[in-house]
Amino acid sequence: MSQDYISKIKDAGIVGAGGAGFPTHVKLDSKAEVVIINGAECEPLLRVDQQMMEFYSKEVIDGLRIAMIQTGAKKGVICLKGKYKKAISNLQNLLKDESSMELKIIKDYYPAGDEQQLVYEVTGKVVPLMGIPLDVEAVVINVLTTIHIARDKPVTERVITVTGAVEKPQTFIAPVGTTFGELIKACSGPANLNDYSLIVGGPMMGYVEENWNAPVTKLTGGIIILPKNHSLIIKKTRKTVVDLQLTKAICCQCSYCTDMCPRNIIGLNTEPHKVMRGLANEDPSALGAISSVVSCCNCGLCTLYACPMDLDPGKITNMVKQSLLKKGAKTEKIIPYEVDPLRESKKVPTKRLIARIELSDYDVAAPLIHSIFETRNVKIMLKQHIGVSATSIVRVGEPVTKGTLIASCGDNLGANIHASISGKVINLTDDYIEIQA
Ligand code: SF4
Ligand code: SF4
Repeated sequence: MSQDYISKIKDAGIVGAGGAGFPTHVKLDSKAEVVIINGAECEPLLRVDQQMMEFYSKEVIDGLRIAMIQTGAKKGVICLKGKYKKAISNLQNLLKDESSMELKIIKDYYPAGDEQQLVYEVTGKVVPLMGIPLDVEAVVINVLTTIHIARDKPVTERVITVTGAVEKPQTFIAPVGTTFGELIKACSGPANLNDYSLIVGGPMMGYVEENWNAPVTKLTGGIIILPKNHSLIIKKTRKTVVDLQLTKAICCQCSYCTDMCPRNIIGLNTEPHKVMRGLANEDPSALGAISSVVSCCNCGLCTLYACPMDLDPGKITNMVKQSLLKKGAKTEKIIPYEVDPLRESKKVPTKRLIARIELSDYDVAAPLIHSIFETRNVKIMLKQHIGVSATSIVRVGEPVTKGTLIASCGDNLGANIHASISGKVINLTDDYIEIQA
């Protein structure tokens, strides 16, 4: 495999579909011992990766093979949960004669899909502070990204689960740029939008979006509609100033947030209770070491599961982390502690988490619709990834066909953008290109 192949992946605009949107051509331009496909899909209610592995198992394996050749990895592992029985059976059938590839079946816990947890489950190694999986000779790729690698075509669709307070939860293959509103309508979503809010992404790490006509990007894995008075919406929309006041008033320093923090459990001394203490006492020296903050992965477990006082240690820790990183704070690439010997028993079962965040009523199937969702209008964002925005190369009024390159990242870190439907460019701004069929 060669730089030609890296160029092809770059041309196709493939980015990590698991959330961060790191350009895949950069990730695969490296050498590793093992390629791990992240099929753990740990965010409650989302049903994308599990169905992709079930229905597109061959492409998952083909993509894994390409990634292994590209990185020189001798081993490929698809890591997924034991409850994805159909996906396991389909993948196992295809892997019968593959000596260098295997499945790693894990428990149904949160956050199993965090790269740190996944790498540890597969290799028994911990990625050091401020490190990446490559530090332990591993490359981690999302399921959908793997399928894009196998297809070797411009990324024009995104697979997305639409669920929550809708009559028919479904998983769509939607052209990039489709509005949330159209997908919600196709699921017979609520008629009176004033009483509902939507979370983009999963319930744990997703954010509340005010604009129901916001467009799907290459990274949008889920839309969850919930009543405005649902505890999750109330917590996620609480103002930071209130969070800080509450921290000062009622954080009792029980340190449950730290005890249950998956990054702390894996040996990275993430200590949200110290961050809370530092803020409550207005004493920066009480915050703890830099490493106790920068290792936070924003999983939200401390906030939505551990804290008995309804505080938001996750948000506060992440805020302090962003501010430290902005100031250029660095820490050594070390693993400060041993993995907690009680890690297995401290894993939070997803079912229990779902009950704790009051989503049990919405924990239902969201079947995959195999045909591409039909839309006549798309708004395609120029920045859907880590790196610089892509620069438009089309003009208003120009006809485009599906798959045409419409914005390029050139030689910068970023990703190319393609037309997701055939039609005419009707609007062009610094942020997006709008195409009408
Ligand atoms: S769990 Fe809540 S109350 Fe306890 S230390 Fe953490 S933030 Fe404070
Ligand atoms: S959000 Fe909380 S539980 Fe998750 S890694 Fe950060 S500090 Fe730990």
